[in-house]
Amino acid sequence: MTTTQSDPGGSRPQGSHAAGSRPEHLPPWSSALVVVAHPDDESFGLGAIIHQLTSNGTDVNILCYTHGEASTLNETGADLRSARQEELRQATAALGAVGFTLLEYPDGGLAGIGAGELARHVAGMAQRHRPEGLLVFDDTGITGHPDHQAATQAAVDYGLAAGLPVLAWALPAVVADQLSQETGAHFAGQQPDQIDLCVRVDREVQRRAALLHATQVSPTAVLWRRLQLLGDCEHLRWLRPPG
Ligand SMILES: [Zn+2]
Repeated sequence: MTTTQSDPGGSRPQGSHAAGSRPEHLPPWSSALVVVAHPDDESFGLGAIIHQLTSNGTDVNILCYTHGEASTLNETGADLRSARQEELRQATAALGAVGFTLLEYPDGGLAGIGAGELARHVAGMAQRHRPEGLLVFDDTGITGHPDHQAATQAAVDYGLAAGLPVLAWALPAVVADQLSQETGAHFAGQQPDQIDLCVRVDREVQRRAALLHATQVSPTAVLWRRLQLLGDCEHLRWLRPPG
């Protein structure tokens, strides 16, 4: 399989662990590996968290399994396969990540690929970049997309085998339910007792990175409503906790 790789381009307060409160800071990883299914997942979903990590000095590398060529959206009329690769390249740089590896699995077909095969790509990236942790979508897939779930499962499989923590971006149930109600689309959330971290984020860079996915964004995209409902907090849960 051919791959596309790119290498474009503080101090951390101690998290508060007072009784009844959740940690408010991302883990102090020197290096993190993001594992996603589609170009734009890293920005639409994980953008604020990735930017927070890179701002903290964490080296972030991104593994993306597909070119997103099966998207039903195409705001610019471009060839999606090549356009989305370039969009991922620009968004990676905007978020301050070290680089990305874009594989050529079929968009919409990840669930049909063997879990071991997908996890081997995580292993290869991990051997190159030595992450202290993996960052993924929640195992619900957030939107329930089977590609999202397969990408997360690959990271969890590798995390279990290699003893690496796996941190997942999750939607609070109240936000997921509101979005589902408003849009008629499916969003899967987590109840408060399933959330391990609530992290305060600055969304400016995430919004900028999202806009770089020009084929996929429109002024009426659900993304903007989701960011509005989430405000300046991201919710995360350990799919495989540290230690
Ligand atoms: Zn996606």
